[in-house]
Amino acid sequence: MLFAGAISLTFLVGIRLASLAAAEEFPAEWTEPTRPFRIVGDIYYVGTKGLAAYLIRSGGEAVLIDGTMPENAALVEANVEALGIPLGDVDILLLSHAHIDHAGALAELKRRSGAAVYASEGDRWALENGKHDGDSAYSFPTFPPVTVDYRRSFGTVGAMEADVVLPSHPGLGGVLQRAARRDAGDPRAFVDRALLKRIVDDARAAFEKELSKAKR
Ligand SMILES: [Zn+2]
Repeated sequence: MLFAGAISLTFLVGIRLASLAAAEEFPAEWTEPTRPFRIVGDIYYVGTKGLAAYLIRSGGEAVLIDGTMPENAALVEANVEALGIPLGDVDILLLSHAHIDHAGALAELKRRSGAAVYASEGDRWALENGKHDGDSAYSFPTFPPVTVDYRRSFGTVGAMEADVVLPSHPGLGGVLQRAARRDAGDPRAFVDRALLKRIVDDARAAFEKELSKAKR
């Protein structure tokens, strides 16, 4: 089993709270390097200051979750290799969701690693076309009519129990701050059983707010 062990894990789809119209408006921290670090067990942070990528080793396989922005491929590769793991040893590139800030570097990382890309079936079109259809934060004015399914996802994820959460935006879960606390001597800095519910509650509230705007 991929996510074996005593600690239950999940990783999350990031919620874009602000509309980002052009590349130059992306936050600078999304492409700023930060040192890789171990979270727990064989789970490592290999992303940038503002965008998460995680390397998980389990059962002889190495899985890289998310690639971050297109220009970050070399940076993520360097972080993986700083852990002593050649990028070519990565077996699977696993995507949280097909937005440029998470999927942007996948093509280059796939080329460099030879790994297989695993993603949700619903993201196939976006990945094969290099853009995401129907996202209100990508200058599309309204949500597509799938609100019931979105709400079901909030319920499903909100009911999960997770000791450690790996959010696709580190700021959503204070990942870098937790690493600093852990390094300062708190061995349980990454363990927060309330975090997943808090993130889901915030995401649900943001969704309902956006939906009420779209319905007007
Ligand atoms: Zn994002």
